[in-house]
Amino acid sequence: MNELTEKVNKRRTFAIISHPDAGKTTITEQLLLFGGVIRSAGTVKARKTGHYATSDWMEIEKKRGISVTSSVMQFEYQGKRINILDTPGHQDFSEDTYRTLMAVDAAVMVIDSAKGIEPQTKKLFKVVKQRGIPIFTFMNKLDRDGRDPLDLIAELEDLLGIEGVAMNWPIGMGKTLKGLYDIANNRIELYRKDDADRFVPLDENGQVADSELAADPQYQETLESIDLIKEAGNTFDKAKVLAGDQTPVFFGSALTNFGVETFLQSFVDLAPAPSSHLVNEDEKLPADDPTFAGFVFKIQANMNPNHRDRIAFVRVASGEFKPGMDVTLARTGKQIRLNNATEFMSSERVRVNDAVAGDIVGLYDTGNFQIGDSIYAGKKDLVFPPLPEFTPELFVRVTAKNVMKQKSFHKGINQLVQEGAIQLYQNYQTDDYILGAVGQLQFEVFQFRMKNEYNSEVEMNSIGHRVARWIDPDQLDPAMSSSRNLLVKDRYGNPLFLFENEFAMRFFHDKYPDVKLTEKL
Ligand code: GDP
Repeated sequence: MNELTEKVNKRRTFAIISHPDAGKTTITEQLLLFGGVIRSAGTVKARKTGHYATSDWMEIEKKRGISVTSSVMQFEYQGKRINILDTPGHQDFSEDTYRTLMAVDAAVMVIDSAKGIEPQTKKLFKVVKQRGIPIFTFMNKLDRDGRDPLDLIAELEDLLGIEGVAMNWPIGMGKTLKGLYDIANNRIELYRKDDADRFVPLDENGQVADSELAADPQYQETLESIDLIKEAGNTFDKAKVLAGDQTPVFFGSALTNFGVETFLQSFVDLAPAPSSHLVNEDEKLPADDPTFAGFVFKIQANMNPNHRDRIAFVRVASGEFKPGMDVTLARTGKQIRLNNATEFMSSERVRVNDAVAGDIVGLYDTGNFQIGDSIYAGKKDLVFPPLPEFTPELFVRVTAKNVMKQKSFHKGINQLVQEGAIQLYQNYQTDDYILGAVGQLQFEVFQFRMKNEYNSEVEMNSIGHRVARWIDPDQLDPAMSSSRNLLVKDRYGNPLFLFENEFAMRFFHDKYPDVKLTEKL
């Protein structure tokens, strides 16, 4: 095996998808502890709450505690190089959160075992499922009373349409939590025991020798559940896992660091190394192809007015990144020298030395890059497919505060829309500008950048949550528009309705049963 192939095979690049408060930050922190990146718990949390913001990033970022260093976290574990890509939630939810999922090879879904599958998890899941990459599930907060594990597994199939297969099973829960019956490793993992005697082996019949534990009613109940899932549940199928049709389910408690390492070990084992990427519509570019190529999946603008630069996040798809290398930007055909790059190791930004497929490189950018851009070294064009656009859910009407400054207003909007920062629509009748986003943060960043980069103060009036659905222009009759379904066109001129809510959409369906409405993703 050549050196590059060996390096690529060591990479594991993933994102954690979850609903806010399910425990993403807590588990990330435990993973970083295992990777030796941080020494004590609380570090990531402190950064999240803003006490750690030492970077010179924009005020909104500071206020919210988002920092570029937490966008990608890299560490070594059992000889593997792990990249965790952050997927901001809450008010920080934006199209970048979705796009980040285009740059990973696997996803970890963290679920609060008391709550089950929540809305944001569902949204992110949909995007990951579309990509057909493996999804690993961690049922968190076992130290608290939660829902019946059988229910939680059934919900994966019912709500998400993915088979769940238990890799381990809780013995008790909340106050009665005793441990995990580790089916995959044929052992018991005891809760709150010292490292050395945490694991109790099982015999070939899956029974424990310890008579006290064997007689425990919780343990007996666990055996019954396991019999049940062995008989009626799904059987582990690696091919299905790799295709994203089955998710291995691990139980645990991130806060008490229980079951997290077992999970990480299995993950490292089962999760795939970077493989090939589709290029030029129908060619496959192997991850260990010696020619460097990658694509921009996220652009983070620096809101500090003294530093107009931005960072373009590039997922390396093949070859090896070398600082100072010349690449071609596919969209323009322009040659660019990549001098100023940063890799994301531990908690600091450091200069890149050996980024290969699976790794993320941050390029300081003065306006060359757009989201979805392909870059490549060598003579042959290597163009990655465009990134999907995501259906916005929040909308505002936007106007320039100063009517004399229409020119900078239009320039700013057009550039920011092209860059992928926000989506633009126009009222079908009045041509008024309407902006769409998946998260509130996108509007705030837009407003801030319009002022600072284009000297254009904007006024935004919320029209709230809307359900956006495209309609075939041939079926469109402007009379279909009403106060409950604003008719607009997207930036390519395609008509769509912004329904007030699901109810208004169903009402429309009933009224015009032959009209087909489509959602983007
Ligand atoms: P995030 O929003 O998904 O990043 O969630 P956090 O990691 O910030 O966790 C949200 C809250 O749940 C915090 O108060 C955590 O301390 C708590 N939490 C996380 N994991 C566990 C767990 O395993 N057990 C319990 N009891 N609480 C947890």
